[in-house]
Amino acid sequence: INSNFIFEDKNSREKLGTIFVIRDITELKKLESIRKDFVANVSHELKTPLTSLKGFIETLKSGAIGDPSVSDKFLNIMDIEVNRMNALVEDLLMLSEIESEKRNALDEYFHIEEVIDEVFQVLNIKAEKRNIVLSRGIKKGIPAIYGNFNYFKQMILNLTDNAIKYTQKGGKVVVKAQKIRSHVVIDVIDTGIGIAPEDQKRIFERFYRVDKSRSKQMGGTGLGLAIVKHIVLMFKGTITINSKFGEGSIFTVTIPLDGKD
Ligand code: ADP
Repeated sequence: INSNFIFEDKNSREKLGTIFVIRDITELKKLESIRKDFVANVSHELKTPLTSLKGFIETLKSGAIGDPSVSDKFLNIMDIEVNRMNALVEDLLMLSEIESEKRNALDEYFHIEEVIDEVFQVLNIKAEKRNIVLSRGIKKGIPAIYGNFNYFKQMILNLTDNAIKYTQKGGKVVVKAQKIRSHVVIDVIDTGIGIAPEDQKRIFERFYRVDKSRSKQMGGTGLGLAIVKHIVLMFKGTITINSKFGEGSIFTVTIPLDGKD
């Protein structure tokens, strides 16, 4: 019970009744707790590389700078930590940008081929380095998609990047696209480590990782799939996972087309 009011007849001052206002604040409490967890997570994720940087700076200052082999090694690690913080801040900015309203200003028609071309340009080298065959299968005649090109590209980029990151060297990653009725359906398929059913339910949560050290080692921020989920919603689409632990995963994005070619 949030509050109550007693009301009376103005003339006779007779008490007419009491109104109780009952508000369900379960949802509000839940949102507040999600927000608190998020702030705690962000602080922790930033604090870890900062502590490590501070340690290296102290060691360099107290003499290690004079030994080039040690200082080179330290500077390389410091560079990795700074890149990690940078990636985290960029992902945080992207999440908050997606949640704001500005984004619709740049809506346009684009083709799925352009998206996959640009994503592959970014990821080809990464795939080669991991000895992973990255290929595509785009069916002919998919109509143009309407919306923000950069966000759509970010969504396919995050999914394909994950497919490469979580696949053993020598594996395969395929991005497929086709039109099914009035939808464009994109499958990002990998022959990687796979995701257990209990984790499939949670991997779209911010900072949820199945294996934190592997994710960090691969340069992950833990925000990639949270960003994907938001972009899918922006396009009024859906995303599903079909995965077998130890065998591979298929992430399927289904986006409604508005019928225009
Ligand atoms: P990260 O930056 O850790 O990759 P994401 O939000 O992109 O964060 O993904 C969350 C977690 O989901 C990852 O840490 C990983 O455990 C799991 N994951 C995502 N994509 C795949 C995939 N294709 N195969 C196996 N696991 C995956």
